[in-house]
Amino acid sequence: MENIAVIGAGTMGNGIAHVFAQKGFKVNLIDAQSAALSKAMLTIEKNIDRQIAKGIVSEADKQSILQNISCFESIELGVSRANLVIEAATENSNIKKTIFAALDQYAPSQCILASNTSSIPIAQLAAATKRPQQVIGMHFMNPVPVMKLVEIINGADTAQEVTASIVALTKTIDKIPCVVKDFPGFISNRILMPMINEAILALSEGVSDAATIDQIMKLGMAHPMGPLQLADYIGLDVCKNILDIMQEGFNNIKYAPCPLLVKMVEEGKLGVKSGAGFYKY
Ligand code: NAD
Repeated sequence: MENIAVIGAGTMGNGIAHVFAQKGFKVNLIDAQSAALSKAMLTIEKNIDRQIAKGIVSEADKQSILQNISCFESIELGVSRANLVIEAATENSNIKKTIFAALDQYAPSQCILASNTSSIPIAQLAAATKRPQQVIGMHFMNPVPVMKLVEIINGADTAQEVTASIVALTKTIDKIPCVVKDFPGFISNRILMPMINEAILALSEGVSDAATIDQIMKLGMAHPMGPLQLADYIGLDVCKNILDIMQEGFNNIKYAPCPLLVKMVEEGKLGVKSGAGFYKY
């Protein structure tokens, strides 16, 4: 598996392209917006410079990593020789289903189609193709060049040999694969999001202030970041969206986003990206 195509050059897509290119894979990075592609290449270059400063890669490696990445605005051209496509486009099921239908049309018949979705069932994406046995979840964590975990999600029809090859590939890029089944929120968000939601509920009940709630979870549970600060980094709209999908998927109100989270999203307080959330940025 040497030709990788990544769909979506945003936060996750540029990181995924970076880690594969660093390991010598040829990567086609595809985005509908040309501005997103140029921004992604600048981000990758900046992140390689950080790795050079830390002694992880050399100055000579920088050019070869960058040369391993080619940018495309067309899915048809970008995936025509891919062995694996990793979709990391906007988290919207209609957008992703349209992309998967196009991938099924234009990618080689043996090509594996993976999605980096945080919450959309793999079954929905597989159903947009005629090759559900070759559709799988590859849920990378942010920031991709730093975080070790890749949650691998088996759809109902994913073939065992497809899972085995994705597990092996994940190890070759120095990441650690953990295989789970296709349930709402998978494992990572199913456990993380209720914790974040509970922290927000405790804040709204006045149990303590944001900094103290975060400090308790950092010191008491050895979490590197408290749940409220983490929510600000993830984006409060993203957290609400994942909780909505889990509430609907499990048909269980225990996953309902708490009123303060809903209110903050309505007010446009989305965390780091909007300049304010539980903290100011
Ligand atoms: P983002 O908004 O930063 O980037 C998405 C990119 O997709 C944009 O550049 C957009 O132009 C592009 N895009 C949209 N429609 C397209 C199309 N039809 N064809 C090609 N490109 C298209 O989003 P992100 O934060 O990188 O998230 C991408 C995926 O990764 C989502 O499924 C998200 O749930 C998942 N994810 C995100 C994080 C995170 O922390 N940001 C973590 C894990 C997983």
